[in-house]
Amino acid sequence: LDDFGAKNEPVLSYLKGSPERAEIEKALNETANKTEEIPIVIGDKEFKTDDVRYQVMPHNHKKKVAKFYYADAKLINQAIDVATETQKKWDKTPIPERLRIWEKAADLMAGKYRAKLNAATMLGQAKTVIQAEIDAAAELIDFFRLNVYFLKEATKYQPISENPQVTKNSMRYRGIDGFIAAVSPFNFTAIGGNLAYTPALMGNAVLWKPSDTAILANWVNFKICLEAGVPPGVVNFVPSDGPVFGDTITASPNLAGINFTGSVPTFTRLWKQVGENISKYKNFPRLIGECGGKNYHFVHPSADIDTVVNGTIRSAFEFCGQKCSACSRMYVPESLWPKIKERLLEKRSQLKIGDPTDYESFTSAVIDDKAFKRISGYIDHAKKSSNLEIIGGGKYDDSTGYFIEPTIVQTKDPKDKIMVEEIFGPVLTIYVYPDSKLKETLNLVGNSTSFALTGAVFSQDEQFLKSALEELKMTAGNFYVNDKSTGSVVGQQPFGGARLSGTNDKAGGPHYVLRWGNPQAIKETF
Ligand code: GLU
Repeated sequence: LDDFGAKNEPVLSYLKGSPERAEIEKALNETANKTEEIPIVIGDKEFKTDDVRYQVMPHNHKKKVAKFYYADAKLINQAIDVATETQKKWDKTPIPERLRIWEKAADLMAGKYRAKLNAATMLGQAKTVIQAEIDAAAELIDFFRLNVYFLKEATKYQPISENPQVTKNSMRYRGIDGFIAAVSPFNFTAIGGNLAYTPALMGNAVLWKPSDTAILANWVNFKICLEAGVPPGVVNFVPSDGPVFGDTITASPNLAGINFTGSVPTFTRLWKQVGENISKYKNFPRLIGECGGKNYHFVHPSADIDTVVNGTIRSAFEFCGQKCSACSRMYVPESLWPKIKERLLEKRSQLKIGDPTDYESFTSAVIDDKAFKRISGYIDHAKKSSNLEIIGGGKYDDSTGYFIEPTIVQTKDPKDKIMVEEIFGPVLTIYVYPDSKLKETLNLVGNSTSFALTGAVFSQDEQFLKSALEELKMTAGNFYVNDKSTGSVVGQQPFGGARLSGTNDKAGGPHYVLRWGNPQAIKETF
């Protein structure tokens, strides 16, 4: 196996006249002009059921990009049987061979299928070309390539053999006998790939339940992996109703793990079901979950205003704030507020919201009707509450697509629900604090919500930064100094949060892939 090291995939520019621009245009046309039929795939068989669903373009919801089918409990059970059987064979496939397949998949994603993955993500999830490129191209490829690198590095370690003539100690990684359920979200095509394929790389077999609203891009990913040589049955594509899927997998004695990204209530429900069934299982199921955040930007009086404003606009409003890491609460000192307010509002008013395929668009529509209602509900709350004032944006309209203006709210109450609950949309709330209350406000950051995913402090005062690093230690799994709270890169900022944000197993870090292994230590005596 060639040693290609641990390099991130470069992000392409899509400038006018570039080859990637021509390719994406072609792929967008092809994707827009058809409704892809997506079957359920279990082993080497495809299935269609009577429970037909559609994925629509969020920015133009009359247009269907995919038609797919929900698997019922019977089919899910069938997939469990196939995965459990396949795991036994797959685990015998030598690791170098698996690594080669993953490397091949990454190459197909980076080359032949890059435009197709991006087009599916742009039209299916309403991402602009750059947002799609950093997700469905760069990050997805990175997950495949860097997990190969991390696994290769990890397997180099062998335990000490003090007297190799007499005893030899070694360690090998096995998969876990049974199956892993991967439940992936809509907001990153890359996360779907990571949740389903990283456990598979370690010798596990997987049932992948993609999100209904990212299914097209996830399907493209699934097909690429088959082409790269992932054997049928190693990853089974099982779109289904969330509770039906959850009930069925947790009832199976073969459940070996759940790899989840989604909401706190869903992860909690799965965990409870696992607890209720615990005496049934062959293994203690591994539970990995990433469950969102209420991420903050904390501004110190010494902060550089341009850095704050540029970072905040991007973190709060790129991809409509639909990143687990998006900034949705901000603390600004009174002394800087007039300038920050003026610049934030000016920048906000210049953002172009529109079709994701328009190169001028900064962002597009939110994902679906459910998201539209939830987010606009928070805007309505801001309109009604005397503690809150909408100072920018606030309009929403779902007549053609699920459009919500980037909205900035100012609050007098730092513990209003808009500062506490995850909104997962383009709503930023700001609390202006008296400069004399710096310490009290810093305390508020960690005490006002149960999440701890990402956070950023902006300051040019080294003393302050040192103390903030300590005082905010438990408030974020990904902590940024003078940079926005979004944009973690695989292998550079391993991603995940603590508290109710998840199990903090750090996707894109060196240990994540190993969490899916089932190591065996062997002592041979001669
Ligand atoms: N890794 C992404 C970032 O740092 C966020 C992933 C997510 O939304 O779950 O922006």
